[in-house]
Amino acid sequence: MPSNADLLKEYHLFCKKKNKKPDPYLENILITRKVRSLSGIVVVSVLTKPYPCPGKCIFCPEEKGMPKSYFSTEPAVMRAIGCNFDPYAQVEKRLQALKNSGHPTDKIELIILGGTWSFLEKKYQTYFITQCFAAANNYQEKSLEKSQKRNEKAKQRIIGITVETRPDFINEKEIIRMRKLGVTRVELGVQSIYDDVLKKNKRGHDREKVIKATCLLKKAGFKICYHLMPNLLGSNVEKDEQMFKEVFNNDNFKPDLLKIYPCALLKEAPLYKLWKEKKYHHYSEKELTDLLIKIKADIPLYCRIQRLVRDIPSRQIISGPTKISNLRQILQKKGAQCSCIRCREVKENYNLKEKLFLFKNEYQASKGKEIFLSFENKSQTKLYSLLRLRLPEEKKHFISTLKKAALIREVHTFGKVNPLEKKSLLSAQHKGLGKKMIKEAERMTAQKGYFKIAVISGVGVRDYYRKLGYRLKDTYMVKSLKP
Ligand code: SF4
Ligand SMILES: [Zn+2]
Repeated sequence: MPSNADLLKEYHLFCKKKNKKPDPYLENILITRKVRSLSGIVVVSVLTKPYPCPGKCIFCPEEKGMPKSYFSTEPAVMRAIGCNFDPYAQVEKRLQALKNSGHPTDKIELIILGGTWSFLEKKYQTYFITQCFAAANNYQEKSLEKSQKRNEKAKQRIIGITVETRPDFINEKEIIRMRKLGVTRVELGVQSIYDDVLKKNKRGHDREKVIKATCLLKKAGFKICYHLMPNLLGSNVEKDEQMFKEVFNNDNFKPDLLKIYPCALLKEAPLYKLWKEKKYHHYSEKELTDLLIKIKADIPLYCRIQRLVRDIPSRQIISGPTKISNLRQILQKKGAQCSCIRCREVKENYNLKEKLFLFKNEYQASKGKEIFLSFENKSQTKLYSLLRLRLPEEKKHFISTLKKAALIREVHTFGKVNPLEKKSLLSAQHKGLGKKMIKEAERMTAQKGYFKIAVISGVGVRDYYRKLGYRLKDTYMVKSLKP
């Protein structure tokens, strides 16, 4: 049997030679791994070069020639090795592979992996991101600014950039720098919010640093993803359960996204020695699955679980429940319930006739009010579109453009990626849901007495906001309002 990718290649040839009319339904059928573009964007993960990390975390593995905490056997790492960690080649190759299997690559969410981003040399950071833009643009410019400018109107636009870093590396200066590079989302290695656990695992930062980093990042409009690690040395099932409860009940935390990485026992990490000496015990399969079920049941509607376990090949895990490769299926079988964003995204179930409702979910977080707007079906089981609006309480700001401004931290419409400027019957994108929510956010903001609203827009989305009356100021898209 020819593969879908082969058939798609032939189909495109037929269309090119005008032997066949373009057929969006057929194209949709032939896409391999549809899930790759069902969140409305395609994700391109790239890795920075192997570089030391300032951390000494006892659970973190080290493989020679690899970025700290990464294994050469992980899929994203294997792709990076194949490109010698060259950023241009990594992006180019990944986009080509996505295109070959039928995914539109118009909207790219760039995820930069490889340990502590903020610890890399500044020059290398700029080079790395410039090259990623160059690959998306298919054109080499002389500077980062020029590459970004070109990307605003390019065919393949980078609509968001994520980096991963440690909470103790976040400060005002670092945030301003991240903005200049085009970063819109930060993955924070939090692991635990308890000082005793952080200390035992030699994290090198405390709870206060997590609180401060979260507040500064939200103040600047970033989306925040916490990495949390159940089963660390010094914790237990009850304490982990308590931690997740506090993360969503304490206003100092409340992340937008979550990666739950239960601690994996690896020979390459110092924790292995403690396990051999019986000073560390991992949970049983039942303990971990029961814990994850409880955690999932409590996830608020505004949060998205990005991942449940890390992509470490099970043969590298010495012992413990993280060895189970079908953990997700086991949870499903046990009837795990979850109302996180990911579980509600409309994906392929887009129904043109479905009646949608605008929901408003307000909560306090890090010295501000967060308003989570969403278009969903009545029972809130199908999420079509979301917007995160932040009304800050503090009058002062370290970024002058954001002084006294309300902030839109995210606008996202789900469903199959719709090529820019094209309308489709198969997707929720480009049906004006995003625009409607932005209008509503502007209305609410003006009503609360704010004079302006700012969007932390990815470089590739700036043009969209221009059409809605926003102008680029510093690195934000800003619009004046009449209260
Ligand atoms: S900070 Fe992250 S990469 Fe560095 S040692 Fe700790 S877990 Fe590993
Ligand atoms: Zn979920």
